[in-house]
Amino acid sequence: SAIASKAFELAGKDFDLKKHYDFRRLNIVREYDPDLPLVPCVGTEIEQVLLNLVRNAAQAMARSGMENPTLTVRTKKMRDWAVIEVEDNGPGIPKDDLSRVFEPFYTTKKIGEGTGLGLSVSYFIITNNHHGHLTASSREGRGTKFVISLPLHPDA
Ligand code: ADP
Ligand code: MG
Repeated sequence: SAIASKAFELAGKDFDLKKHYDFRRLNIVREYDPDLPLVPCVGTEIEQVLLNLVRNAAQAMARSGMENPTLTVRTKKMRDWAVIEVEDNGPGIPKDDLSRVFEPFYTTKKIGEGTGLGLSVSYFIITNNHHGHLTASSREGRGTKFVISLPLHPDA
């Protein structure tokens, strides 16, 4: 299978978000399940996915100039799956656009600010390379949540 055996301790991994972006005004809430086991995955790829989700959330919240931008990163174990949620309380994605966000080159950003490739590459990494799931849900004016599910026993 395409799954690398490199184990990645998602639950304990603390992405140094402030290192990457100007997050001075951003509240970051981490809800990591301390009992999440090691997840077999390509750590660099999962990190790339998470950074893209976090960057999108931060950009969306910055664009809307909101009072209390909050990013929540959650991990949990659900049966044989490791679940990672990246949630923001930004402007949300209109219902008609939600189904398009995983399409290559779909972007609402200005030229130079976004290529529209982040989510399509993320989708490929999660589904093709890891046999997992990547889903998005959103409520306009309320926020957006991306959910990554990775199989804990990919070879079973
Ligand atoms: P890019 O970031 O280069 O635009 P992505 O594939 O990462 O490309 O995202 C595609 C589009 O999905 C974004 O341009 C934006 O319109 C929308 N989007 C993604 N994440 C969010 C989010 N957290 N809140 C609002 N819109 C989002
Ligand atoms: Mg992006």
